[in-house]
Amino acid sequence: MLIAGAGLPGLALAAALGRSGLSVTLADRHPVGVVDERAWDTRIYAISPGNAAFLGTLGAWQALPEDRIAPVETMRVEGDRGAVLRFDAYDLGESALAWIVEERALRNALVPRVLEAGVRIVAPAAFGSLAWSPDAGTLALADGRSVRARLVVGADGVRSWVRAAAGWVAEPRPYRQTAVVANFACERPHGGCARQWFRPDGGILAWLPMPGDTISIVWSAPEALAGELMALDMGALAERVADAGRRALGALTCVTPAAAFPLGYLRLPAVVAHRLALVGDAAHGVHPLAGQGVNLGFGDAQTLASVLAGRAPVADAGAPILLERYARRRAAPVLAMQAVTDGLASLFGSRAPGVARLRNLGLAAVSKLPALRLALARPALH
Ligand SMILES: Cc1cc2nc3c(=O)[nH]c(=O)nc-3n(C[C@H](O)[C@H](O)[C@H](O)COP(=O)(O)OP(=O)(O)OC[C@H]3O[C@@H](n4cnc5c(N)ncnc54)[C@H](O)[C@@H]3O)c2cc1C
Repeated sequence: MLIAGAGLPGLALAAALGRSGLSVTLADRHPVGVVDERAWDTRIYAISPGNAAFLGTLGAWQALPEDRIAPVETMRVEGDRGAVLRFDAYDLGESALAWIVEERALRNALVPRVLEAGVRIVAPAAFGSLAWSPDAGTLALADGRSVRARLVVGADGVRSWVRAAAGWVAEPRPYRQTAVVANFACERPHGGCARQWFRPDGGILAWLPMPGDTISIVWSAPEALAGELMALDMGALAERVADAGRRALGALTCVTPAAAFPLGYLRLPAVVAHRLALVGDAAHGVHPLAGQGVNLGFGDAQTLASVLAGRAPVADAGAPILLERYARRRAAPVLAMQAVTDGLASLFGSRAPGVARLRNLGLAAVSKLPALRLALARPALH
């Protein structure tokens, strides 16, 4: 098995497959290792309880430092005309709606699990070309080495080189929004509450509780506003973010420089082909408003690993019957999450007359229907 791409889903898949006894090679253009750094990482993820359990089965969740994880106990979503929707972990019978963890901490917890599982790492290595025969795929690396495998897994992100090399033409549809992310110390305790505001300009601002009195923000802003935010110094950015969140946590102090990510939607007609499976952003792109991108990627990794571990009596890990089984099992959860996140982004991005009133009425109505609220939240948890 070859996993091309060592992002978080690629790492999780490598650890899971290695543990199941398959021979696995993991390749990436960047070095794959543990980074010793105490400063806050700007890349923060909200990990669902379901994926926390999956990472637990790999031995990675329990390796995360306790002081770098924060539970989201409640979530408050506000519409652009003041309608408010609340979710509470207690109502859902969970100890947290999600767990906020830094990307570096997750990588540092996963990489040793990958090594323990006996995975061969080929990195740093730029990908050169990909060729197929009836029983294998062969990745030639730019430095002259090559890796042959019965199954090639493209785990190389939304602009997947593997996907393109396999002949799939797929471009993400831009949301014309850029996510501006940064971390802030706050004057008042966040109390484990994640806050999200749908803004009148179509943007979405999320504040996520981190350990201590610190939050991470994801401001999915129209492109011009994102450019403006990125040009601010740290003090001015903190003022803008505090004002945009109605100073819900008092004054903010920026503790990491801001970073920006363009946002796009990607839906493919298929995620498997001859000797090829796609996982993570290579297989689907979603708006980060529900914090589900990496969660979908972990879901892909868990499903593909379980299909391959349970493949008996099929010996060939790249057999079409297994790839189809993987694609079938992922189709519904991925479609559902894409429909919800893309639908919400479009609904709250719409400037059509009357839509603002309707969407706020919708939020208010859902907030009064506990059963519907739970039904909406459950798939995101697991
Ligand atoms: C602002 C923002 C906030 C987000 N917040 C959340 C959140 O809270 N929760 C959540 O679940 N998701 C979140 N996401 C989504 C999440 O970041 C992605 O879904 C996730 O990182 C995808 O992982 P991946 O491994 O598929 O791709 P990537 O992280 O892009 O990894 C791809 C890997 O492939 C390697 N690679 C790529 N091309 C090549 C090549 N040609 N040769 C060699 N190697 C190559 C790269 O070096 C990299 O290691 C957020 C996204 C954004 C933009």
